[in-house]
Amino acid sequence: MNRTAHRGRQMSDLAARVMKERQDALDRLAVLDRGSRLRDRGVLDADNTPFTDPVDEAREALARLELLSGREVLVGRLKTLARAREKVHEGTYGHCDQCGEPVPPARLRAMPEAIYCVSCASDLEAQRSRAARRSRRTAHDPEWPAGALVDTE
Ligand SMILES: [Zn+2]
Repeated sequence: MNRTAHRGRQMSDLAARVMKERQDALDRLAVLDRGSRLRDRGVLDADNTPFTDPVDEAREALARLELLSGREVLVGRLKTLARAREKVHEGTYGHCDQCGEPVPPARLRAMPEAIYCVSCASDLEAQRSRAARRSRRTAHDPEWPAGALVDTE
């Protein structure tokens, strides 16, 4: 088999993994959201004064915070997976979204959703953490409402 055909097959394996990981992440998000809705309802239906113990209250607040940050990570991953999926359709999958250079196959195997080469990814990561320090006020991301995760194709 020649190199081009080999890379082609490798790319379609990776593309299949992108689709699968995206579905897994969507499922996890659905479970997470269903879980927190049930919890909210449980608290409202069962008891209007759920906490008598301030330690329980603190524990609950912490659990909610963990849930929120887990959701944030998941939503971030879904954004990247959605872009990787777009790139598969565009035929640019496996090439950096920033500079157009090929993304090393080892990087793609470790992280099929990788849409940037190593150097662009670390540049962007540095920019992002600077921006995050400037504006870390809310866990809600207005650019990415839950409805936007649903495909309409
Ligand atoms: Zn790059």
